[in-house]
Amino acid sequence: MALVEISGVNKHFGDFQALKDITMSIDQGEVIVVIGPSGSGKSTLCRAINRLETFESGSITIDGKELPEEGKALAKLRADVGMVFQSFNLFAHKTILENVTLGPIKVRKQSKAVAEKRAMELLERVGVEHQASKYPAQLSGGQQQRVAIARSLAMDPKVMLFDEPTSALDPEMINEVLDVMTGLARSGMTMVVVTHEMGFARKAADRVIFMADGELVEQATPEEFFTNPQSARAKDFLSKIL
Ligand code: ADP
Ligand code: MG
Repeated sequence: MALVEISGVNKHFGDFQALKDITMSIDQGEVIVVIGPSGSGKSTLCRAINRLETFESGSITIDGKELPEEGKALAKLRADVGMVFQSFNLFAHKTILENVTLGPIKVRKQSKAVAEKRAMELLERVGVEHQASKYPAQLSGGQQQRVAIARSLAMDPKVMLFDEPTSALDPEMINEVLDVMTGLARSGMTMVVVTHEMGFARKAADRVIFMADGELVEQATPEEFFTNPQSARAKDFLSKIL
């Protein structure tokens, strides 16, 4: 059975249908890159996967379990799904180390000592261990985003979602974040990455998903998708960005 099973998911905002009968499954260790025009439902899909967004019909399971709609059970299961957003979303009034240890202490009930040891390992892995006692505003955007990745990893998620993680970064900082993500992909993490970075898609993706108008239009290996897109919408999209 796949790690993530998305089956017949429909989502409306009022009269507008943002997700149209989305069905896909994601295997353990698979790296999926989701691309498509603005407004095609990519963020809504990511948010539905960890229940930041409700949906009217269909189901999404992680490791065979459906995420409950609310309450403590949701907080616990949601911790299995790491999410990194375009904006870094670090807690401004907490140090970098505290940002990373907060979830493990509160949700995973780890001791402070255990959480701090693991946090330092993760900060080292993303290359910001020397910033541990600083506050987010003292770090560059690229460093903050790497901390956000470390913070998600500290929860030992089963799957990591990235929603345009480099879109808000100055160009010179994009690669340092993509390099961390590439390393994570190689380490076997299951990942869903919404990005316009086609270099990353070619290098790291096992599968590219192309969405348009709330539909999953096409899925293929990066090689197939970039050299031989099937649908008119994908051809049109690629002609604009490549
Ligand atoms: P993408 O991430 O592909 O750019 P989104 O998933 O953010 O697209 O949005 C898909 C569509 O749903 C867009 O047309 C957007 O305007 C609409 N939408 C997203 N969130 C809301 C919301 N909270 N209320 C109303 N419409 C929304
Ligand atoms: Mg989006």
